[in-house]
Amino acid sequence: MIDINNSYDLSNFAVPGVLYFVKGGLLNIMEKGKTRNTYPLIELDLGKLRNNIDQIVSRCSDRGVSVTGVIKGFTGIPEGVKVFADAGFDYIASSRLEQIQGAIDYGIKADYMLIRVPMLSEIESVIRLTDISLNSEVEVLKALNKEALKQGKTHKVILMADLGDLREGFWEKKELLDSAIMVENELDALYLAGIGTNLGCFGSVKATPEKMNNLIDYAEMIEKAIGRKLEIISGGATKSLPMVLDGTMPARINNLRIGETIVLARDLKDLFGLDMSYMFQDVFTLKAEIIEVKNKPSYPVGEIAYDAFGNHGTYEDLGIRKKALLGIGKVDIAYPDMIYPRDKGVKILGASSDHLIIDIEEADRDYKVGDNMEFDLCYATIVFATNSPNVKILCK
Ligand SMILES: *Cc1c(COP(=O)(O)O)cnc(C)c1O
Repeated sequence: MIDINNSYDLSNFAVPGVLYFVKGGLLNIMEKGKTRNTYPLIELDLGKLRNNIDQIVSRCSDRGVSVTGVIKGFTGIPEGVKVFADAGFDYIASSRLEQIQGAIDYGIKADYMLIRVPMLSEIESVIRLTDISLNSEVEVLKALNKEALKQGKTHKVILMADLGDLREGFWEKKELLDSAIMVENELDALYLAGIGTNLGCFGSVKATPEKMNNLIDYAEMIEKAIGRKLEIISGGATKSLPMVLDGTMPARINNLRIGETIVLARDLKDLFGLDMSYMFQDVFTLKAEIIEVKNKPSYPVGEIAYDAFGNHGTYEDLGIRKKALLGIGKVDIAYPDMIYPRDKGVKILGASSDHLIIDIEEADRDYKVGDNMEFDLCYATIVFATNSPNVKILCK
């Protein structure tokens, strides 16, 4: 549990819905004096998070690859970001400036990177809050330069190359080259730190040594034109990590931006079949409270029409079953089939906005009203649950 020194001005880093343990007592910063539910709850194990960071950073540094720590997967929970900062990443990154602002307000000193290409409407905050950003638009680069001049800062940029996944990045080689030369020679308040790419996000395109060599070719084309070496060649995210782990990553790729593997380590285990036994998959635990336990039919009684979200449900008739209702719903986790009960004898039947319906006939435990049930999560449900103001966060 996190013990927060009383000398902090707690209101400075208040995160909506977060419960803080202060000198042994439970304090909800946002609603002092008001009663709030304790469940549903996300438990974040800071020690396991640190293990996961260290495991990945050391494997990458052995191969000359620096890691940028990405915090968007857990909505930038400040206690978690603090662990990232203590672990000594070159940069701490998010797609959302609100999370970077939250970390700064919490008092975390680090170099921050914005990894979603900036909106023109957020340029002032990009310069004020971050040291470096990923970019793909000339107009945005010019606006960043103008604002950096105004704030008296030098802002670093990484130009993104789209290598076929068709999300962000320059597509035309000439536009990439011209933009790099423009940043180097004309935009005095920007520093061209390097280039990068992203794969396996929209187009499901695989990160391969060929794609990495493609990126290195672009980097060397730019280096030739500007007459110096680029500091950063950033080869992508979690899906590029297998090349580092199996030694096939081309040598000049010297940075990856990693979130999922550190937070969860499921992609490389489930999608790539890699042995990730040195990583904890249970950094995050979801706990929800049982609000009803009854024996009920498994098949609905009456004429079947539509469920809460306008869908036709499918129901299997297994006769009368012991069932539990939990105080959590799609509003909190979006996908009830993407949370995984730790009690292997229970089965999630479905959810509406605020209720989760579970078959506990074959449960390991004899559940009663008021008990809580624990779940493992996937990347999507960690993101949704940590974003829900109704889900409390408890760090231990
Ligand atoms: C989210 C994101 C990452 C991190 O991706 P993971 O798959 O979570 O490791 C890296 N770079 C960019 C541009 C991203 O948007």
